[in-house]
Amino acid sequence: MQDINNFNCPNCNSTNFINKTTIGKKNTNGPYKNVYSEIQCSECFMDIPSNLSENIEKINLDKCRKLWNDVYKPAHTLEAAKCSKCFRYYWDIEKYLFESNIPTKDIFYQVYSPKKGVGSLVCKICDPSAFK
Ligand SMILES: [Zn+2]
Ligand SMILES: [Zn+2]
Repeated sequence: MQDINNFNCPNCNSTNFINKTTIGKKNTNGPYKNVYSEIQCSECFMDIPSNLSENIEKINLDKCRKLWNDVYKPAHTLEAAKCSKCFRYYWDIEKYLFESNIPTKDIFYQVYSPKKGVGSLVCKICDPSAFK
């Protein structure tokens, strides 16, 4: 885990986080093109771009909140991992599991979907037996 001096979640205002991850250069367009790392909030379980949440000066917190809600969150939601059965997003699933004292590691498995030619995700809430 990398050192984080100061985290402020623009989504839920928490100052507690789980960890920071570096993200590859997968986005060449849109708001995420300048995002190199994300910090996962331990309250809302969202992955938040570190440029909106790490070492932000107090006077800029409102600006970051607005940017997150208006620009980054809609983009993040479009790309976010989502269960194909219950349509929960990863953060809803992790929060639910966490509150039920179930480990939040490995929350999805993939099933092949011939129609789309890619795997669809099924979550640990929908099919807990698959994770035993
Ligand atoms: Zn949060
Ligand atoms: Zn599900």
